[in-house]
Amino acid sequence: MNETLLQVKHLQTNFYTENGVVKAVNDVSFAIREGETVCIVGESGCGKSITALSLMQLIPENGKVEGGEINFSGKNLLDLSKKDIRRLRGNEIGMIFQEPMTSLNPVFTIGEQMIEPIQEHLLLSKKDAYKKAMELITMLGIPNAEKIVNLYPHELSGGMLQRIMIAIALSCNPKLIIADEPTTALDVTIQAQILDLLRDIKKEFNTSMLLITHDLGVVAEMADYVVVMYAGKVVEEGPVLELFKNPQHPYTKGLLKAKPVIGERKDRLYTIAGQVPNLVDLHEACYFADRCEHAMDICRMKQPVLTEIAKGQKAACWLYEDGENR
Ligand code: SF4
Repeated sequence: MNETLLQVKHLQTNFYTENGVVKAVNDVSFAIREGETVCIVGESGCGKSITALSLMQLIPENGKVEGGEINFSGKNLLDLSKKDIRRLRGNEIGMIFQEPMTSLNPVFTIGEQMIEPIQEHLLLSKKDAYKKAMELITMLGIPNAEKIVNLYPHELSGGMLQRIMIAIALSCNPKLIIADEPTTALDVTIQAQILDLLRDIKKEFNTSMLLITHDLGVVAEMADYVVVMYAGKVVEEGPVLELFKNPQHPYTKGLLKAKPVIGERKDRLYTIAGQVPNLVDLHEACYFADRCEHAMDICRMKQPVLTEIAKGQKAACWLYEDGENR
């Protein structure tokens, strides 16, 4: 079994708002091994993107990581200075965001935005950094690299820009790539190309990946292991095949039921009734209780803990807790 590369333990990220403290990431733990792709999946607002941003200390100003550990390559990232985190972000961890257009600076050419970080992180001369940028652009299937480096972001399509973002993320040979909804803003055909590209990269460089997505199709194609989040908490996790074949938590079951299946025509797609709870106003209970058709009295009084219920598969649900734990 491969070594653990990233271990997140009891991560707690809160936001301070006019309405109170929002517990966006609430006691979240998971691990990624070398060469593994872990997908965090859930509805928008479940805390999956904030989890990724917390790892990189990129959360908005009114947010704060207030607990837990983020162990990466033997270091707790929460103990590092801003300067060290910045260095790590370029060197050992690459990031790909949903909107490539907003991640790139519109007033600099693609070349300027690629060459400088390569020079800085890999300590290369400008000439060698340029050569490396060319190699990466070509490797990612973009023709005319010499022309591309002189263009500005607005002169490229969304798919091309996302390839450039991937090239930037890969430029320093990272051990881990964090990709937050990398295909959401793209056309379906381009989405498939970008996913293929990410899969090839993983195979060729044995890079670990943390993929944040709301799309179970992406999860099915990319994940080795899946973490399902709801209202800031992990409610289920397990290897992708087991989780898709045999989901345990009512929320995971609902998500899978809501996924369209080719060949099955329905008048209406299934939706999970109700709303995600207000994360300011959380009380001791299962946060899914108001939307769960199996809710029992205990669910509204006590929070279930994540428990192993099948080999390698865990769920936080009172349906699987034995009497002793209640
Ligand atoms: Fe439903 Fe209760 Fe399980 Fe929550 S703990 S998902 S309310 S059965």
